[in-house]
Amino acid sequence: MQTPETSLPTHFIRQIVANDLSENKNNGKVATRFPPEPNGYLHIGHAKSICLNFGTALENNGTCNLRFDDTNPEKESIEYMESIKRDVAWLGFEWTELRHASDYFEHLYQYAVELIKKNLAYVDSLSAEEIRLYRGTLTQAGKESPDRNRSVAENLDLFSRMRAGEFTDGQYVLRAKIDMASPNINLRDPAIYRIRRVHHQRTGDAWCIYPMYDYTHCISDAIEGITHSICTLEFEDHRPLYDWVLEQLQTPCHPQQIEFARLQLEYTIVSKRKLNQLVTENHVSGWDDPRMPTIAGLRRAGFTPKSIKDFCEKIGITKQNSWIEMGVLEYCIREDLNTNAFRAMAVLEPLRVVITNYPENKVENLEVSNHPQREEFGKRIVPFSKTILIERDDFSENPPPKYKRLSVGEEVRLRGSYVIRCDEVIKNDNGEIIELRCSYDEKTLGKNPEGRKAKGVIHWVSEAHSHTAEIRLYDRLFTVPQPDNEENFLNVVNTNSLQILTNCKIEACLKDATLTNRYQFERTGYFCLDTDSTPNKLVFNRTVTLRDNWEKD
Ligand code: ATP
Ligand code: MG
Repeated sequence: MQTPETSLPTHFIRQIVANDLSENKNNGKVATRFPPEPNGYLHIGHAKSICLNFGTALENNGTCNLRFDDTNPEKESIEYMESIKRDVAWLGFEWTELRHASDYFEHLYQYAVELIKKNLAYVDSLSAEEIRLYRGTLTQAGKESPDRNRSVAENLDLFSRMRAGEFTDGQYVLRAKIDMASPNINLRDPAIYRIRRVHHQRTGDAWCIYPMYDYTHCISDAIEGITHSICTLEFEDHRPLYDWVLEQLQTPCHPQQIEFARLQLEYTIVSKRKLNQLVTENHVSGWDDPRMPTIAGLRRAGFTPKSIKDFCEKIGITKQNSWIEMGVLEYCIREDLNTNAFRAMAVLEPLRVVITNYPENKVENLEVSNHPQREEFGKRIVPFSKTILIERDDFSENPPPKYKRLSVGEEVRLRGSYVIRCDEVIKNDNGEIIELRCSYDEKTLGKNPEGRKAKGVIHWVSEAHSHTAEIRLYDRLFTVPQPDNEENFLNVVNTNSLQILTNCKIEACLKDATLTNRYQFERTGYFCLDTDSTPNKLVFNRTVTLRDNWEKD
């Protein structure tokens, strides 16, 4: 089965949808939803689900709702909802409708009444602990609650009094009456409503009972006319419950639940609970710390929507859980920025170079191209003068064989400028190099004189024309590939994952950088302005290095 009219590689969900369309199932409609719980910021795993749900709708002229699964008020907040909307929109997706599970609280209540009337639900007075004990195990059937055979009339009465607030939290729950002996534990009379006296960010204090996730989700899907309810693999065992609820009730439709493997990305964590812990325990500066695998963190680090979408397409959709290497995500952002980022020069750890034979007050405005392959990026002016700064690392007193950078008596080309030769090293009393004396060859601007070619090219800035910036270099947040599998993931946080350089010198054009600009700082990596940046204190983040030079130890 081919995915219609796209060149995208197919996967099993594309095939299911294409097949349904060919059979005119759901009257040829495709309706999906992305249903986050607003209890944290979205992470790269959610991006996979977003691309899949919105992508499936887009590819098939369908609809995709953003639905907040807001049934757990004590952990949820407006801040999280706003961040989720911002992140989905930033990725470039438009939801057809914005919905909330809480929009359906009254429907959900009435459907529960319907279940009770059909003798398919009962109010139970067992405690949470007792319910757990009665549930049985994988090898042992569960035990029926003494309340299981309460009369319909009594159940209706108790349930309405639960709603009315006559009981304390935990005093009763409403349970679906399915099968305590089912081999699937999810079908052993799961709780569908519990009493919780908590304020809800949308419904306020209107409710003191809240519906459980499994019960809420399938009904919300049905109310919205979802055709393909795509979720992650851990819900496979819940599918019989999803189907059971919809089979018992008179809902507008019965969506098909389809499960796929969640993203697991090496050297990071994709669990909102654990990410929350990193934030609250100050291992990172916030949900948008550039080391975080959150969409907000990736955005702040300089990742683009395109790179994240490319990544999600590249890793594919399967039913097998597997770990994806961080290198795959880094590859996607490098590809995008290599094509689309402006080139500029910045010296991270400056070393002063005085060009002894260059006129004292002369300034040359050199024209340097903004992208080696893309002429449409144009050129910029880079001032050149007698005193420049180069990268400390680009000079060596004891150069190894075939050294391509600067050393005494050797020549190197300054990017977009002249060839210089190092004549002398100036040191302070501690023997530290503080300055190089070099000479330039005026015949070498933009070309090599016959028979001569400098071995290497280094980047530089004119000292008088440069600006100071702080540059933040990030490394992976964890020291092991699968921090999630550690007994305590906090023990493997990489404490060296942030290096702050405060005396970097950047070329003049970078003073005008905006948060949406992306740069390749020649020879150093890809960078973008950080949200901490102010006109008086420029701050840049390294998004990714130029090459995959991350070594496993
Ligand atoms: P977390 O464990 O991070 O809290 P969750 O599954 O509880 O994740 P939800 O807000 O319920 O978070 O997720 C919204 C949607 O995103 C769900 O459909 C869920 O299956 C999907 N999703 C969550 N994590 C991943 C992941 N790592 N890979 C793919 N999809 C994911
Ligand atoms: Mg969840």
